[in-house]
Amino acid sequence: MLALDSAAGLDAVFGRVFRRLGLKRPTPEFRVEYRPFASLRSTIRLCGSRAVVHLADVLTGAPPLVNEALAEILLAQLFRRRPSREARACYLAYVYSPAVRRRIDEARRTRGRKRLLPPRGRHYDLEEIFDRLNHRFFAGALARPRLGWSTQRARSTLGHYDSAHGAIIISRHFDSSEIPRFLVEYLMFHEMLHIQFPVERDGHRRVVHSRAFREAEKKFPHYERARRRLKGFSV
Ligand SMILES: [Zn+2]
Repeated sequence: MLALDSAAGLDAVFGRVFRRLGLKRPTPEFRVEYRPFASLRSTIRLCGSRAVVHLADVLTGAPPLVNEALAEILLAQLFRRRPSREARACYLAYVYSPAVRRRIDEARRTRGRKRLLPPRGRHYDLEEIFDRLNHRFFAGALARPRLGWSTQRARSTLGHYDSAHGAIIISRHFDSSEIPRFLVEYLMFHEMLHIQFPVERDGHRRVVHSRAFREAEKKFPHYERARRRLKGFSV
């Protein structure tokens, strides 16, 4: 459970950071509130002389330095400035710390709505495809996550492994007689590799497709063909 703090004190932090930026304009009246967002998302907008700031409540209790860094990042974004390297490093180090990541995952699990269509589509059955690939390429070692087709016929996101919800979602666009089977298998194989190779950290960078991931991916028999077909899409 996360307590919803009144963000008292943060108004002053934002005011201080604003003045430090040295902009030639009067300091807005800041109203900073925590919001129960399902992700790590903070927003800032100007309404006349007021600046309304909504911070993701998973950041409640962040150390003062992190709050200052976040204030700098949001204000820089609002006034088209570049936040300092120190501010970004400070904020990222905090949000990528294991304790905070866990809180974010938890918030997503409990608040994020994960709607997906049943795995058995009109043309392809995702469970059957998963089981077959699992047997053939992973020695049956992967636990089957929730599987489903996306509710949207998205063409931008083809497949997605959601570690917080333990789910693989494949775009419904591919549940079609015009789509060859190897393509759906490739998408599934790619997402299964995300289970096998969790996101790594390299300093503050998140490495989603590590070198090991990319090497393993090439073992898919129709790898080149699939990549060619999917050029311009992102998986
Ligand atoms: Zn991927």
